[in-house]
Amino acid sequence: MPAKVYVNRTLNMKKIRYIGLDMDHTLIRYKSLNFERLSHTKVIEKLLKRGYPDIIKSLQFDDNLAIRGLVIDRDKGNLLKLNRYTAIRASFHGLKPLDFKMHQKIYRSTYIDLSTGGYMAVDTFFSYSLAVLYTQLVELKDANPTLAFPEYARIADDCLDAVDEAHRDGSLKEEVKKNLDHYIIKDPKLVEGLEKYKKHGKKIFILTNSDYHYTKLLLDYAITPFLKEHKSWLDLFEFVITFAQKPKFFYEGNRFLRVNPTDGTMTNVEEKLTPGMYQGGNAKQFTTEIGLEGDDILYIGDHIYGDILRLKKDCNWRTAMVLEELEPEIENNAKAEPINAEIEVLMKQKEPFEDELTVLMTKKIEEGIVDEGKIEALQKKISEIDGQISALIKQQQSMYNPNWGQLMRAGNEESYLAYQIERYACVYMPKLSDLLELSPRTYFRAPRRPLSHEITSV
Ligand code: IMP
Ligand code: MG
Repeated sequence: MPAKVYVNRTLNMKKIRYIGLDMDHTLIRYKSLNFERLSHTKVIEKLLKRGYPDIIKSLQFDDNLAIRGLVIDRDKGNLLKLNRYTAIRASFHGLKPLDFKMHQKIYRSTYIDLSTGGYMAVDTFFSYSLAVLYTQLVELKDANPTLAFPEYARIADDCLDAVDEAHRDGSLKEEVKKNLDHYIIKDPKLVEGLEKYKKHGKKIFILTNSDYHYTKLLLDYAITPFLKEHKSWLDLFEFVITFAQKPKFFYEGNRFLRVNPTDGTMTNVEEKLTPGMYQGGNAKQFTTEIGLEGDDILYIGDHIYGDILRLKKDCNWRTAMVLEELEPEIENNAKAEPINAEIEVLMKQKEPFEDELTVLMTKKIEEGIVDEGKIEALQKKISEIDGQISALIKQQQSMYNPNWGQLMRAGNEESYLAYQIERYACVYMPKLSDLLELSPRTYFRAPRRPLSHEITSV
């Protein structure tokens, strides 16, 4: 079976002493579409309370409308897909794609400066329903100019607030609690993998932004029942740190509070950290008081910003990212392979015509020798091939998200999300159990990346 752990930077698991786990969407997997649908519904309920027109009740969650890694342009009401250089490679306004001319008109430069504000990243599974709803609301606003919709930017802010509120006030968590089977995946293999890693002397800890009650609920449901060598999750995990406020956990100095795991009551921590359950805290204290160097710790999370990027910038733990969309993406890549091969053949066919045209045009400019007939014939051949290529590209893209295409690519380049993963995650994989299936002594070796001059022959 091929390994499903992909390596950006060499990682020797033998050297890792502590493995930190994010909980939601990493240790605990969700039935994501069910959860996103719930989130969509709850956010609509909250917007209705804020005075949004009744028409929004009719909106249904539609997962074709967004993928992870998109950026919301708040002021203009657009959803954008960027490549690694933050150049826009696809865009939608409401339910319609923006055409090239519109692009030129709206975005003077096609490069987006994400640091200027005004943009919102759709970079977690939790913000995915937000992007879907935002684009639906933009469509409704445009189609119903007489209804009392706020400006695009305000809609984006309201959606963000409402999602935040739904996460904080229990609207989502109470529903999950009532119907755990509908929202949470049970994975005995994962628990088996955790126990195997412990046998090899690895210490495992949880570092989650969820609170004590929700953490306990999910661990009691998805971990404890499958343990063979431990009584409960409390024996399995060295530390469980709840309400960690990542990414601040990685760069601020918040205090740890000790949590009583049976009732959730909290006390101040006066002495050095010892194994147990905590709330809050910070990475620096955690690393030094346990007597670790940063690179003794591997942290595994699903949020490119909160779990991976800020961690890499602020402390030197090693990082692994879980990206659940990777599995379908890889399957679709395999399906698209024959089409890619056809595209490649056509590109090769086109090359000699383009070369010939370059020679003729050069002669025309430099020597005044013109063979218009030949030039025209070549241009016709090239554009015929281009037509075939674009039809194939459309067919290839339709194998992925029908509106947005591939997750990890934007045209021929990497998507912005793929760039961030490559830069900040030492390894990445579809799910945690893909790593746990492998030996805790695995040496993950990064493939040699060819530079352009090493593969291009002119
Ligand atoms: P983690 O992935 O284990 O760190 O936990 C993520 C936690 O953050 C979950 O409890 C989510 O409900 C919560 N969460 C996700 N998005 C938001 C938000 O926008 N506002 C507040 N909480 C959020
Ligand atoms: Mg998470």
